[in-house]
Amino acid sequence: MKEYTANMKQTLIERREQLLSHENSSIPESTDTREGDDIDQAGSAYEQEMAFIMKNREIEELKNINEALEKIKSGEYGECEECGDKINLKRLKAMPFVKYCVKCQANLEAEEK
Ligand SMILES: [Zn+2]
Repeated sequence: MKEYTANMKQTLIERREQLLSHENSSIPESTDTREGDDIDQAGSAYEQEMAFIMKNREIEELKNINEALEKIKSGEYGECEECGDKINLKRLKAMPFVKYCVKCQANLEAEEK
């Protein structure tokens, strides 16, 4: 389990670096946009909205990654925040920063609806 946690830490750090570098490169450059007509402007408004949504997701993911890294440090990584059970390893591999076990996640999603 210890070795596994080290692997997850590496995965999380790499993902964080990926997100951070993407964040820097996704800043739009405001050159050569003056010639656009209405259609282009509509397109860019849509793109801006999409970029905004993506950005929010990335910020949320970064937050989760940082929390997961903190948990690795404190030795709580891989435990469900809701019931304290160990989270399934397959689930952790698919989503290294997941906070809840399958059961609690399903319960929480049911509550949200
Ligand atoms: Zn749980």
